[in-house]
Amino acid sequence: MTSFRCKFSIGNQRYVQVNEWKGELRVDIREWRDDKPTKKGISLTLMRWKNLVDQLQYADQALQNKLSYWIHVGGNVYCNITDNSVCVDIRQYWKPEQELVPTKKGICLRPKEYSCLKELVPQIGKVLPELDAVVPCYLQSDHMNQIGALQCPECNPNDCDKIA
Ligand SMILES: [Zn+2]
Repeated sequence: MTSFRCKFSIGNQRYVQVNEWKGELRVDIREWRDDKPTKKGISLTLMRWKNLVDQLQYADQALQNKLSYWIHVGGNVYCNITDNSVCVDIRQYWKPEQELVPTKKGICLRPKEYSCLKELVPQIGKVLPELDAVVPCYLQSDHMNQIGALQCPECNPNDCDKIA
């Protein structure tokens, strides 16, 4: 059973929740309908949430300058801003062949929803004291050499098993 610590509205029946499921904490950004979660959304581990939050300043710059920008959130999850777009897409991708392809698992945040999400970051931090203990990949000791990062499923999700 999933329990949740908090549920904040970002508008248009979309919510950010901190969920606890089988002892794992996740930040879930999702559209709801008739009080039920829909498939439109993304569920982030604490490390992925931290990676996202730490890079939102770059997303803001891209939005301001109408440039494209990719944040690697972890694994095959990316936060993507396209040229001249006002929306911020957080999504699971996969790599069937040479190129990364978006899946339906994700959510494209409209400008108001995105600014609501940003305003909620400190509040989510308050209900998630565990975030302080999360060490981002690039600060972990086994990532100090490049092989460590190449073998990591978070950093190099599609080829990590091919690195000897
Ligand atoms: Zn890593």
